[in-house]
Amino acid sequence: MELLSKKKRQGYLTAAGYYKGNIDGILGPQSRAAILAMKRDFYPKKWWNTKYTIGFNRLLVNDNRIRRNTKNFSLKGDGLLLCECGGRYCGGAPVLFNEQLLKNLQKVRDRFGPVTITSGLRCKGYNKSLAGSISTSLHTKGKAIDLYIPGVTDTKAGRQKVVKFWYTLPKANYAYSDTPNMGNAVHVDVK
Ligand SMILES: [Zn+2]
Repeated sequence: MELLSKKKRQGYLTAAGYYKGNIDGILGPQSRAAILAMKRDFYPKKWWNTKYTIGFNRLLVNDNRIRRNTKNFSLKGDGLLLCECGGRYCGGAPVLFNEQLLKNLQKVRDRFGPVTITSGLRCKGYNKSLAGSISTSLHTKGKAIDLYIPGVTDTKAGRQKVVKFWYTLPKANYAYSDTPNMGNAVHVDVK
């Protein structure tokens, strides 16, 4: 992916609440401080610095995509919108979220109530470490989410309701539940 223009970086950092300076395309001390502040919130300590990297670029874009396409979700509030490896293999945004996936996630929230993400992004390193995972998993492409909805997906009938609803949404690819190790979660993905 391409890096955001410098003005866009400042705009996205402003939207995320880390930058309060002018959107002038000049990455000075204020912009660098904003990058550092955001890294401190999301990265393991060993990666705290003011450098604008491709991984940080993806994190910033994902933050913005979640803001633009959902009302009830955020990188901070929904930990698993970051990579599941928790900083072991990547900086939390190995890939960009598909925007239709996020829009559909919001529609599920609007229809069924508060949603807990049980699985979101997986970087290649983490995916490999999972027993039985497949390298083409849509979780490694930003196109799949596993979710749990308290009071809804606790029952098989509830899970099936969510699965059925997913197939009414734009670009729905697969939705399923009740496979081994899935517990009360429902997997949904987009094309
Ligand atoms: Zn990772």
